[in-house]
Amino acid sequence: MDHKNKKKTKDMSEKQITVTSPLLPNLDEFNEMLKEIWASKWITNNGSFHQQLEKALAEYLKVPYISLFTNGTLPLLTALQALRITGEVITTPYSFVATTHSIWWNGCKPVFVDIEEDTCGIDPDKIEAAITPKTTAIMPVHCYGKPVKMKRIQEIADKYGLKVIYDAAHAFGVEVDGESVLNAGDMSTLSFHATKVYNTLEGGALIMHDEQTKKRIDYLKNFGFAGETEVVAPGINSKVDEVRSAYGLLNLRQVDAAIEKRHQVAVKYRDALRNVSGIRFFDDIEGVRHNYSYFPVFINKDEYGISRDDLYFKMREANVLGRRYFYPLISTFSTYRGLPSATPDNLPVATRLANEVICLPMHHELSDGDIERVLDVIKNK
Ligand SMILES: *Cc1c(COP(=O)(O)O)cnc(C)c1O
Repeated sequence: MDHKNKKKTKDMSEKQITVTSPLLPNLDEFNEMLKEIWASKWITNNGSFHQQLEKALAEYLKVPYISLFTNGTLPLLTALQALRITGEVITTPYSFVATTHSIWWNGCKPVFVDIEEDTCGIDPDKIEAAITPKTTAIMPVHCYGKPVKMKRIQEIADKYGLKVIYDAAHAFGVEVDGESVLNAGDMSTLSFHATKVYNTLEGGALIMHDEQTKKRIDYLKNFGFAGETEVVAPGINSKVDEVRSAYGLLNLRQVDAAIEKRHQVAVKYRDALRNVSGIRFFDDIEGVRHNYSYFPVFINKDEYGISRDDLYFKMREANVLGRRYFYPLISTFSTYRGLPSATPDNLPVATRLANEVICLPMHHELSDGDIERVLDVIKNK
């Protein structure tokens, strides 16, 4: 008893291990770029660093066209606008709220479809039953950066004449057989928020496949301006400034090293957790370039002994902060819970996984000691 109390006090005094830590550029290098911006006095509206970042990201991500946005929510809103999506949009409740909010903000009705256990993405087998004459689009999510079944989804979309907009906020740099997942569907969106693998403080992007669409998107993110006096569409303001573009250029140089550090953390977690009964996690998939953006584990209470929430609070006691991504499901929030598709009966897998999941600390700065502390809490429950 004494020993236990002592240990608890010790843990509390140890440094807090957070679920993520932002990738930050070297401050001196950033300062040099700030001096250039100050000298040029061109601080926003498609400046030089903005243009460089779009070019560098298109190359890095292996996509033909990209348009930068001020966060990861506006490209979702804008993609739905650009494709003139109306009526009903099929999506999943197992995501960050912005996915469904973007549908709602466009005056469309979200229709929730359950997810698959192995990808945490939309279950293609359940899409067709959710299609009605009002359905115009599907918005799948590459949850945790795990690629969803893009080929199956496209077949269904083609059969029913639907657009596909991927919320790829988690899928920065993810490739299947050397091809970026961002090239699937009609458009894909990214988030460069501080908590993501790659950040520009706040930021995001929309990925499209042709020059004409890129042009339209660039008008839309600048109030619809197509020239000094010509407004061609009811646009919005989502222009990225030079300071964030410079920051983004510097972070792009170190993102591969950060992903490799995350990979090493994932390897250590997996090695240690493989023999803990009642804990499920994802292994790498052959042919996929993963980005290790999250490390979700799923707790089977009967086999593991305690519930996900019990473990979550035990971790907090030890100053180890996991996050219950994605709990609660979007379909349970007040705006959406009245929708016919929002019932737990319609969403059995998502409902169960939301109650089992906990994302372990995962970032480029975790030390072996940190990893050990995380694993100690899980093993000595
Ligand atoms: C982070 C995130 C967003 C929103 O991105 P912001 O940059 O925070 O606006 C959208 N969808 C998913 C799945 C996300 O994780």
